[in-house]
Amino acid sequence: MSEGKRVLIVATTTGYQIRSFGAAAEKLGVRLVFASDRCNRLEDPWWDQAIPVRFHQERRSVDAVVGALTQRPPDGIVAVGDRPVVLAAHLACAFGLPGHPPSAAAASRNKLLTRRAFRTAGLPTPWFESTPIDGDIHALARRVPYPAVVKPLALSGSRGVMRVDTAAECLAAFDRLRALLRSADVRIERDEAHGQALVESFIPGVEYAVEGLLDHGRLRVLTIFDKPDPLDGPFFEETIYLTPSAASSERQQHIVAVTGAAARAIGLHHGPIHAECRVDGSTVYVLEIAARPIGGLCSRALRFEKNVSLEELLLRHATGEDVSGYVRETAAAGVMMIPIPKRGIYRRVDGVDEARAVPGIEDVQMTAKPDARVVPLPEAKSYLGFIFARGDTPSAVEHALRTAHARLQIVIDREVEVVSP
Ligand code: ADP
Ligand code: CA
Repeated sequence: MSEGKRVLIVATTTGYQIRSFGAAAEKLGVRLVFASDRCNRLEDPWWDQAIPVRFHQERRSVDAVVGALTQRPPDGIVAVGDRPVVLAAHLACAFGLPGHPPSAAAASRNKLLTRRAFRTAGLPTPWFESTPIDGDIHALARRVPYPAVVKPLALSGSRGVMRVDTAAECLAAFDRLRALLRSADVRIERDEAHGQALVESFIPGVEYAVEGLLDHGRLRVLTIFDKPDPLDGPFFEETIYLTPSAASSERQQHIVAVTGAAARAIGLHHGPIHAECRVDGSTVYVLEIAARPIGGLCSRALRFEKNVSLEELLLRHATGEDVSGYVRETAAAGVMMIPIPKRGIYRRVDGVDEARAVPGIEDVQMTAKPDARVVPLPEAKSYLGFIFARGDTPSAVEHALRTAHARLQIVIDREVEVVSP
């Protein structure tokens, strides 16, 4: 049982998922301790006693957390968000807790290291090559087998990911990616990986997301999400996730097997994983496998019987409980990440009540702040909000999500350019 135990949450975000961990901890009688680089964010009460860390200073951050918790080391560790996974892995080692080896966590966060590990393990892998973002890429652009995809090594949410069909498009995409990687909010991460880009051949097909839990090396798949919208580029907006998957059981077994092989290839060992697969004919390609759960609000689309949230399941697992008995609820569920339709100043969204009134819709959450500047993909770094639905079948859920989305009128004003005289 988890009661009375302490779990260290290593996080960058201050948002919903942290609150959901908080609610689960309260229910279980677990005490949460936080390590974060956002300790100066006073708006969120969770950070009261957080241990300040810097994700680009691993050694110092490990020492700071170990020093702060020597009296009472944690019973478990959970990483929330992409950047914290490597520090969380180091901390698991430092405290002697089961986790992912730091090298595996680091490889999962770097698309080039991931590709190399998959290729070495003999997993299906697209043609790929990396290059410094500042270099001359004309020769590379002539070699690439088109269609291809240009992407950064360590961003997420499809940021900077672009399909290119010709050498000219490849050169243009590189310019665009270079500008993105030089922007202030990417530079602030001080991640060496942002000095490089990856080009890989385009894998046609249907995409799935796999939510799983590794237990001392054994993968248990919690669910497979269908992504019903085609993801063919030029940009790759994630929109709808649906569960249970409508894929044949043969295909699902194949996806589970390749995801397990991908986790082994990288060396992931213990804790949540979130993988993305593309299936081309009978070949399953793992695009990437993250050493963390499905992010933020989206985790609400995954619920277990007896109203157990993903966060509760993860806290139980982190404290050493056997969670193999928990099964996903019987209802079909889905989430739509509301994409940013155009660049400008986000003012408001009308029609939220009408969208909420659609049968099957459980919630519409707008997360964009009014009057904030918003940019669409490939530069976008967030969504406008999220729509959640449950129903008897995945297609009913999908229909509800699309109907609700159609009722939203998103008001984005043009940015007024200030021209100096
Ligand atoms: P991120 O970490 O930003 O999610 P991904 O590498 O997962 O980056 O790419 C985002 C999306 O771009 C994928 O979900 C997929 O739809 C598309 N994509 C990426 N690489 C490829 C590829 N080689 N072939 C086809 N589609 C791809
Ligand atoms: Ca991805």
